[in-house]
Amino acid sequence: MMKRIQMLIGGAWLDAFSGDISVIRNPATGEPVAEAPVGGREEARMALEAAWRAFPRWAGTPAEERAALLHRTAELMRERLEEISRWLTLEQGKPIRDARKEIMLTAKVFDYYAEEGKRIFGEWVPTGTPHVRSLVIRQPVGVAAVIAPWNYPVELLAWKIAPALAAGCTVVAKPASAAPVAATEMIRALHDAGLPPGTINLVLGPGRTVGAELVENPIARKIAFTGETETGRWIMEKAARSIKRVSLELGGQSPMIVCRDADLEKAVAAGVRRAFSNMGQICISVNRIYVAEEIADAFIARFVERARSMRIGNGLDPEVELGPMFNEEVRQKTREHIADAVSKGARIIWGGREPDGEEFRRGYFFLPTVLVDVSHSMRVMREETFGPVAPIMRFRDLDEAIALANDSPYGLAAYVFTHDIRTAFYVAERLEAGGVGVNINDVTELQAPFGGWKESGLGRELGRWGLESYLELKHIRIALD
Ligand code: NAD
Repeated sequence: MMKRIQMLIGGAWLDAFSGDISVIRNPATGEPVAEAPVGGREEARMALEAAWRAFPRWAGTPAEERAALLHRTAELMRERLEEISRWLTLEQGKPIRDARKEIMLTAKVFDYYAEEGKRIFGEWVPTGTPHVRSLVIRQPVGVAAVIAPWNYPVELLAWKIAPALAAGCTVVAKPASAAPVAATEMIRALHDAGLPPGTINLVLGPGRTVGAELVENPIARKIAFTGETETGRWIMEKAARSIKRVSLELGGQSPMIVCRDADLEKAVAAGVRRAFSNMGQICISVNRIYVAEEIADAFIARFVERARSMRIGNGLDPEVELGPMFNEEVRQKTREHIADAVSKGARIIWGGREPDGEEFRRGYFFLPTVLVDVSHSMRVMREETFGPVAPIMRFRDLDEAIALANDSPYGLAAYVFTHDIRTAFYVAERLEAGGVGVNINDVTELQAPFGGWKESGLGRELGRWGLESYLELKHIRIALD
């Protein structure tokens, strides 16, 4: 039986007004797994109006009551872990253990912001006039429209929904149209937890209609978006018309610098994992590796050995490390980036093609790919591939490595591996990125800011910074004489 999902508008589950349906397919097998309504501008408008009507009540709800509902949502996510994770793997392709991790982290995000919402303090500030007092308070911005991509379709939506609700905003959420099922289950958890009607709304459909309405309609006071840099640019331009608040988490092209004193085994393991997990479809994936000349041969040999041993297959198999890519479009872009690099002198030392075997024929599988003899004239070093490709380049001295790492319009994450604390600081302080991992391959920490420099974005998510972006300051000036 195929699952049929619906939109949630003003507390009611609805189909698209047009009756249009899209079929969601398993990227590992091509089999249909669910049907989703294809909403349009009208449904998006209705959802914004429902959120607007629900706003005064939710904004006036005590922080403790809002927190209880968010904690309840987290609990429901954990109770439904197996079911939601399975849907995530079925629609997105990622290995089931990664899907479980995403759902557990999502539950943590709700718990975290439930508590953080209780700490929306004000300030009492000194004034220049006797008998006049100044109070600064923080209030919710209003209706927040939140838009997420398909690579972490649940977690990236939660990074926005949880702080928005904790701040007292009401929300219209739009997941990626090709991976909406697990995200819908998260919205169901919020609904089942008992959020008042209209506080959380879900609209499904294409970015160019549903997404565009959310961005253009003046009811939404805030847009929180994760996706491609080009889409972010368009959103920023459109949002300017009504001076909306925008947070943009956009593309990345993250460098990893491996110094000559690095722990080779650890650096290899970290690089392989961050270059290939989720088939490279991660904004903070390792996209370019710069290795000190002295250790480059050993590093490359171990890297290829590990890449070759990764187990590829249907994500539902608990042993699988790499599932399929999400769709043919991303796989084709990966092929094109590899072909471009090869035409400019790169060598493929592992991968570069689909794996052999009947079980891979119907899915969007691709081998983890290692390239050497690469240069910055290649697309794979300049653009976001969003595929499982690790180009490795040698460097002679640290300043050269830093200059190469910063030679990019992107600035989301960067990584450095070294045993010397002075080198670690020297490099970390000079890298142009919103997050730097030192001897670690992830810059995501629930309590710390996440976001990009340069064309990788605007604003920050997570931590207290993630909450700030849903709040407005208000200065209340009081004469006491
Ligand atoms: P995308 O930009 O195509 O789509 C993202 C979302 O925006 C989808 O829900 C889509 O329907 C919607 N959308 C598309 N056009 C729109 C429009 N005109 N108005 C409003 N909404 C619109 O991105 P994608 O292909 O789904 O995701 C991959 C991209 O996301 C990559 O570039 C990746 O780096 C980026 N990403 C960034 C981060 C980060 O935190 N910086 C995290 C994950 C993914």
